[in-house]
Amino acid sequence: MHCHLDLYPEPFKVAEECKRRGTYVLSVTTTPKAWEGTCRLSEDSQRIRTALGLHPQIAHQRYQELELFDALLPEAKYVGEIGLDGGSGFKNHWDVQLTVFRHILKTVNHAGGRIMSIHSRASAAAVLDELKGIDGTPVLHWFTGTKSQLKRAIDMGCWFSVGPAMLSTKKGVELISMMPKERVLTETDAPFAKYRGQALMPWESEIAQSQLSGIWKQSISEVKQILANNFKMLLILNKSKP
Ligand code: MN
Repeated sequence: MHCHLDLYPEPFKVAEECKRRGTYVLSVTTTPKAWEGTCRLSEDSQRIRTALGLHPQIAHQRYQELELFDALLPEAKYVGEIGLDGGSGFKNHWDVQLTVFRHILKTVNHAGGRIMSIHSRASAAAVLDELKGIDGTPVLHWFTGTKSQLKRAIDMGCWFSVGPAMLSTKKGVELISMMPKERVLTETDAPFAKYRGQALMPWESEIAQSQLSGIWKQSISEVKQILANNFKMLLILNKSKP
């Protein structure tokens, strides 16, 4: 549900390997200008889908691309990576991040909603405030907020995508244990996210399946079944959308 396919050194090779393996990939972008090129990676694949995004960590450098975002949204079925980042180094650009995020959510809402992959590092409370009343399905990727923020996100109907890096931390395991199983999907956040010191590959979201099997105390085949059902449900929920 969240992979930066376009940011691998050899994205076409990685996309080819995803196709060979039959990996489902939500290929998120960090700027609207990357949309067109990133879409090329998913040509001839039913299982790789591109998401239109503007990453909060570069919002201050790319806010001029909001116009392009609006122009491209009608052809984008998925939105991401979007969100807010209150971490050090990014908090100083908070105002522009907020302007960008609000603009995107307003456009998405007007367009009838989208499945959205959302970044909420050190900003979960603010992200949830902004999502109020917005049409679409927010999927909080690599959620690192507090337990009470997680509870609020669950009550608001958010979904969650979790990956090997998140599930390798004690906090990540605690949070995932609180998430409703029927709203959990896997991701890698590759190539940024690492597992055991190595940059992950898109198909290594499979590692998260075995981690979930341990946390949920269910067999891998049961976990796969749950994830497959969740994925179907997510798509059905959004089928009525343009
Ligand atoms: Mn990411």
